[in-house]
Amino acid sequence: APPVLEISSLSVDYGVGDGAVRALHDVDLTLRRGEVLGLAGESGSGKSTLAYAVTRLLSPPGVITGGDVRYHPREGGPVDVLAMTPRELRAFRWQEISIVFQGAMNSLNPVHTVRTQLTDVLRAHRPGMSRAARTARAEELLALVGISADRLGAYPHQLSGGMRQRVMIAMALALEPEIVVMDEPTTALDVVMQRQILRQLVRLREELGFSVVFITHDISLLIEFSDRIAIMYGGRIVEQAGAADIYRDPRHPYSDGLLHSFPALRGPRRELTGIPGSPPDLRAMPPGCAFHPRCPKAFDPCDRRTPHLAPADSDTGRSVACWLNDDRRPGEA
Ligand code: ATP
Ligand code: SF4
Ligand code: MG
Repeated sequence: APPVLEISSLSVDYGVGDGAVRALHDVDLTLRRGEVLGLAGESGSGKSTLAYAVTRLLSPPGVITGGDVRYHPREGGPVDVLAMTPRELRAFRWQEISIVFQGAMNSLNPVHTVRTQLTDVLRAHRPGMSRAARTARAEELLALVGISADRLGAYPHQLSGGMRQRVMIAMALALEPEIVVMDEPTTALDVVMQRQILRQLVRLREELGFSVVFITHDISLLIEFSDRIAIMYGGRIVEQAGAADIYRDPRHPYSDGLLHSFPALRGPRRELTGIPGSPPDLRAMPPGCAFHPRCPKAFDPCDRRTPHLAPADSDTGRSVACWLNDDRRPGEA
């Protein structure tokens, strides 16, 4: 499928000058039309920073220090997202790309009904729509996420966490965006509810044809629901491959560790070995490969030279940032 969002060499700092820390390093990532792209990595690896940066919602002290983000609309040429004016951004968000944030189910306005909150989005972006048409659309949106129309008059506190989360997803879909970014949309919910919501989302994606960037700590959910997975460590993408390829054969030692941190979905149970040690401190990033202090396979170049994301299999489109998978000798890279 053709690309819908192309991220190249994207870097983000928090702070400026001596106090700055680099939270994203040269991130290259392509989202294709209609796919679910999963983003995994421990806390602090930069997943939310990436989501905020590509939607231009990063706020100070966060600064995009370099790189490029291109959006490919269905019609017309690519659009430079980082160059958009505030007016262009207002049209871009919700209509082309929408986001469901970490803890979003608590961001519904407690004093307004579900109907008001859904129709407000429509009123703001579809000024020509009649009141009756807005209400009909709100009902349709609720039905899409499996909530019956009689809940339209409900206030958020009258809904369960799972229902509130579905309302947020309905709002994100209200203007039929091409891309939906879900940043840990379901972490506050139990696993059964998370699966149910994700299953619904994937079905909707098949019906409506949007693409999804799905961020979670839970790699088993990612493997179940993503087409492709990108794994982040210390602000870099360290491996990017098809979900089945990564599950079957993780190439980066960190991917391997993450996969072993959770029980297997099906088949023989994998050992819960996890990864020893803790994620790096941005203020004191290890030199060379940032993962080397925790890596069971670290060897000569790893604490001196930083491996960059490079194609690993020409046929599957996998790429890996690890000296073990790099044909170039460290000295030449
Ligand atoms: P989590 O899984 O916990 O949500 P994440 O992968 O989304 O983590 P980010 O929130 O993107 O990680 O954070 C990446 C790094 O940037 C972290 O080290 C974090 O401490 C740092 N960071 C995030 N926001 C700020 C901020 N406003 N000021 C300074 N540093 C920040
Ligand atoms: Fe481990 Fe070296 Fe690969 Fe980093 S580059 S993941 S330290 S083997
Ligand atoms: Mg986050």
